[in-house]
Amino acid sequence: MDDLGEALSGAFRGEMRMLGGGNPAALPAVQAVWRERLGEILADADTCDRVLLNYDGPAGSPAFREIVAEALSREFGWKVTSNNIAITPGGQTAFFQLFNLLGGLLGGATKCETRKILLPIMPEYIGYSDQGVCRELFAGCQPEVELRGEHGFKYRVDFQRVKQVESVGAIALSRPTNPSGNVLTDGEVDQLRSLAKQRGVPLLLDNAYGLPFPGAVFTEAKLPEWDEDLVMVLSLSKLGLPGARTAIVVAQEEIARRVAAMTAVIGLANNNIGQAIVGPLIKNGALFRLSREVIQPFYQRRAQLALEVVAAEFGDDFPYRIHATEGAFFLWCWFPELPVTSRELYERLKRRNVLLVPGEYFFYGLPADLDWPHRHQCVRVTFSQSEQTVAEGLQIMADELRQLHAPSSLG
Ligand code: PLP
Repeated sequence: MDDLGEALSGAFRGEMRMLGGGNPAALPAVQAVWRERLGEILADADTCDRVLLNYDGPAGSPAFREIVAEALSREFGWKVTSNNIAITPGGQTAFFQLFNLLGGLLGGATKCETRKILLPIMPEYIGYSDQGVCRELFAGCQPEVELRGEHGFKYRVDFQRVKQVESVGAIALSRPTNPSGNVLTDGEVDQLRSLAKQRGVPLLLDNAYGLPFPGAVFTEAKLPEWDEDLVMVLSLSKLGLPGARTAIVVAQEEIARRVAAMTAVIGLANNNIGQAIVGPLIKNGALFRLSREVIQPFYQRRAQLALEVVAAEFGDDFPYRIHATEGAFFLWCWFPELPVTSRELYERLKRRNVLLVPGEYFFYGLPADLDWPHRHQCVRVTFSQSEQTVAEGLQIMADELRQLHAPSSLG
């Protein structure tokens, strides 16, 4: 994380090819919309003063929550009211609150394993891994690995493994999944939903990259119908507003109320500016159109370009596989014969001014004795940076890997 932060803040003096983080791309058409909205806020003294001067309620602005509830009903038929909506300072915070609300210690219990957060398909978002207030909060499940052609693969939920996990407080997943770019099918989501229902726990869906915005989904997957068994977290970050630190939790009233209570304790109130920027755009539907017409096609094109560079650089003979790129901002690359760990590959590439994320950090909550070398053979590469940066980074990665695979390279 330190390396990623330094790269973004310019500490590497622009030399580093930053293929590491989950930062959204700079899309001029989208940035123009934010600037226009900020101009409107500034031009209206009353609105501007209200946004800057007032603390919102811990659940978020009542007017904004109304707008969101109405838009979700209008656009997707969700039966929600503003009482089902809680605003948080970003999805990261929302999940910290939800995981520790629904998982971990039960009243009076002393052992953390009382209620696990079940992650049905590992690898999963690195940002969850340390979020438990108690240790060993997560129960991750090893997926089935479906090989596709010479150079592709896809993780599938192993429902037998998922069913075996005991003492569950919630089931959670990111869709699209960070890091793999997997988008669980509607059928798989329905199946997880019934499993959650059988256990009387909610299914938490992290839509940071997904529907309805920013909508970086390249399959036919749909936004599930909301009901009380589902907690949906939508974030403004991947739209291009990570600085606004704003997410929207849609949940049954009791959960929404508790999330708001936690916000009050932890941070008093939410950031107003994100709500002020996107409120009118959610109300008139422009944000949904922007996602469909500008943001989704952009990332799909970028994914395609990155895949073309990989195919050209590695050729047919090199032992690599790329996970089905179904959404989000990443290529998830698996090198089944990697002679070093992904961490070592990361260090070598950093020395050549390419920053990516070693895969092993995305595999957590798994049995300590699990023998699964795959965990050390993957890296995550972001394709949201400029085409040149991505192409150069991938070229250097391919070159480094060829050197590593050369018989004398490890001495
Ligand atoms: N969830 C996923 C899957 C992410 O990749 C990220 C950020 O990269 C987040 C949540 C957190 O996003 P934010 O707190 O900016 O809304």
